[in-house]
Amino acid sequence: PFFKEYNAEVFPDTAKLLAKLNANENPYGPSPKAIEAFKSTAHLGNRYAWKELFELMEKIAVEEKVTAKNIMMAPGSSDLLEKTAMVLFAEGGNIVSADPSYMSLIKVAEATGATWKPVPLKEDWSHDLAAMEAAIDSDTKLVYICNPNNPTGSMTDHAELVDFCSRVSEKVTVFIDEAYLGFLEDAAEKSMVSLINQGKDVIIARTFSKIHGMAGLRLGYIVAQEDTLGKIAKITRGGMGISYPTIFAGSVSMDDVEFQNKSRKLNAACREYVYSVLDKMGYEYVPSSTSFILFPIEMEGKEFLEKMTEQRVGVRAFSIMDKNWCRVSMGTMEEMKLFTTALQKVLA
Ligand code: PLP
Repeated sequence: PFFKEYNAEVFPDTAKLLAKLNANENPYGPSPKAIEAFKSTAHLGNRYAWKELFELMEKIAVEEKVTAKNIMMAPGSSDLLEKTAMVLFAEGGNIVSADPSYMSLIKVAEATGATWKPVPLKEDWSHDLAAMEAAIDSDTKLVYICNPNNPTGSMTDHAELVDFCSRVSEKVTVFIDEAYLGFLEDAAEKSMVSLINQGKDVIIARTFSKIHGMAGLRLGYIVAQEDTLGKIAKITRGGMGISYPTIFAGSVSMDDVEFQNKSRKLNAACREYVYSVLDKMGYEYVPSSTSFILFPIEMEGKEFLEKMTEQRVGVRAFSIMDKNWCRVSMGTMEEMKLFTTALQKVLA
């Protein structure tokens, strides 16, 4: 692999941070209406929420233009990334993905017995779809594509990805992780979910953690063919882990388009602000379609993390292709100003 994550000696004490920009959390969430829904349904927490969960699935199915049979819910999409890996790699095989990419599914696949076949991103940070297709062999059980990608924030061309998924899914299941897609103005058009109605064997993962700002309330789902969900359902009841109030909060958040628009707009303004400071500092960056920015730094990653923590700003650091990189999540504008001030001090 071309990439590794740096860890500070001491994990930053979250309570001491002035700006927590290390986990791609949405600083504005949850939506006030979702908080109200959570509070007003907490007293129903003595009950299992079967009916309510099914109603949420129906509502999501309408939004995704599929049927509820194509939806599997979970307390966050992580759960479904992990369970998919456990089911598909129980008898070994290999997984093809980009490098660098989001490692959650890949790590569980490896722990279950899979071999990871990493394919470097292209120079423009998009997926090298031709090389990924060439890497597929008779042992490949899954292709994992994170679009937009984490930790780079970069997008892969829509038409090329549709073409790749349509063709490759005839041979092997393609998993598309769309965790950050909601930050795009035209998210619905950029999704791969329409491939489901064309009968393609793709799995699309979505989360309420990012654009809905519900990372700590835990809600996510996958959209896939019924057969594929049937396999995963052998080891999980999916939605069983979701709390009653979270189901209501999620449903109300879906309707609160105003909150989502606000998150998207403020996130974009913060990206522009960080770009402008990096430009002034003479730093390059990967143009982001997400709620975080990746840029190269002239300092060893561990030292950088420790110095930023001293400034009470939490970020992430990676080594990618022998260079050091910082990944900073978009917080509020006030937090981004604390970040740029700290950055200028640390890198001065
Ligand atoms: N996928 C990607 C690309 C992510 O970055 C994350 C979280 O940061 C997740 C999935 C998991 O999110 P959650 O389990 O909160 O839905």
